[in-house]
Amino acid sequence: MSSKPATPAPGAEISSDSYIPAHGNGGYRVRHYDLDLDYRIGPNRLTGTAVLTCVATQALSRLSLDLGEFRVSRVLVDGKPAKFARRGLKLQVRPAKSVPVDAEFRVEVRYVGNPTPVSSRWGDIGWDELTDGALVASQPVGAPSWFPCNDQPSDKAAYRVAVTTSSPYLVAVTGDLVSRYNAASTTKWVYERKEPTAAYLMSVQIGRYDDVELVAGPDAGWFTHSQVRAFVGFGRNKTPVPVVPQRAAVPPRLRRQFARDFGRQDRMMEALQRIFGPYPFGEYVVVVTDDDLDDPIEAQGMAIFGANHVDGRRTHERLVVHELAHQWFGNSLTVADWRHIWLNEGFATYAEWLWSEESGGEPARSLARAWHTRLKTKPADVRISDPGVSRMFDERVYKRGGLTLHALRAETGDPAFFALVKAWVAENRHGTVTTEAFVTLAESYAGRSLAAFFTTWLDTPALPPLP
Ligand SMILES: [Zn+2]
Repeated sequence: MSSKPATPAPGAEISSDSYIPAHGNGGYRVRHYDLDLDYRIGPNRLTGTAVLTCVATQALSRLSLDLGEFRVSRVLVDGKPAKFARRGLKLQVRPAKSVPVDAEFRVEVRYVGNPTPVSSRWGDIGWDELTDGALVASQPVGAPSWFPCNDQPSDKAAYRVAVTTSSPYLVAVTGDLVSRYNAASTTKWVYERKEPTAAYLMSVQIGRYDDVELVAGPDAGWFTHSQVRAFVGFGRNKTPVPVVPQRAAVPPRLRRQFARDFGRQDRMMEALQRIFGPYPFGEYVVVVTDDDLDDPIEAQGMAIFGANHVDGRRTHERLVVHELAHQWFGNSLTVADWRHIWLNEGFATYAEWLWSEESGGEPARSLARAWHTRLKTKPADVRISDPGVSRMFDERVYKRGGLTLHALRAETGDPAFFALVKAWVAENRHGTVTTEAFVTLAESYAGRSLAAFFTTWLDTPALPPLP
């Protein structure tokens, strides 16, 4: 069921992902996306030019991209018009001249249409209209709803994204804002994302938001005395951690509640950096939409919450730390294949428990015990290391993933466990990861085989006793 498909043939319209092979394409990888987008909010009209700088991994007489229901007016490959056709969510391209293996080549796509989310077994995902604006939340298959891409988590690329839209709206794109031009009634916002990023983690947020600064960066003036601050609190380790600029885009009506609910995010950032190592991006942006959302969602250097996640009483604080933890687990360390999803959600869940302890709430071990008791009442029919595509986002993957880490901590002892976690993050920074690689590294930190341990916790549906 989980055996890895063979490498797709040149031009193949499938990826090597064992869960979602229909997204992603064979024969090339993308190095850089340059997206120039014009968006009309009222009519929900997107006009785009995308330039993808790619490298052929095989000789290519044709290739395909993932793209939603847009009208494509032109495709160029290395500046020359190419034949193209739209079929479902694929844009098939036949270059005038074949691309040799290992060659770098550029694909330019001009497209226009009303962006609509990609419908999937997880609901409608991707570019979505808000009551007054738009959001993008693409995990796992929503990226083609707004740009042509190689939509598989293992193909990470750099981005430049320019969005032109009506001036009263704030536009947040994952990345650094490098320029902003005002015309008569529109503003062009240009963002750059230098770190390798999976297509599903790219996001655009448009709304009538207040721009709130939570923590000023080192360049902001009042931090010039020092770019680092000693960590204060939890544990004896006072290793200084970098100050990470943190901003938020918040509807004016929710600013007061937001200030309380996210008031400890700065402490979370310090705590997680101390546990996991340096924050992997230059900034962290939180967006709270004026509409309700089912669940908060992570993007690169960004997290998106619904108005319903903000109440001024810190009801959802565990979600604040959960989304922040995804910056390390999911975003910097991206799963090479969706079947390794527990590496994202298990760590994000365990970060919730560690933060609870750090902030004076319930200790991690009693949260682990409580969840273990709760999971015992649920059907034991999920293999955490390979839950199947329909159960990728099953709560049991999250909680048992957290329990697996807690059990590993008991198995190896705190010093080896926390050294392992830091090494895992450092060695795979901005890369892609697999369960097999995690097991190998864990064994090197334990100094012995952990085969029996991981078979019990990850590969066997029955819930083992908590050590
Ligand atoms: Zn999560």
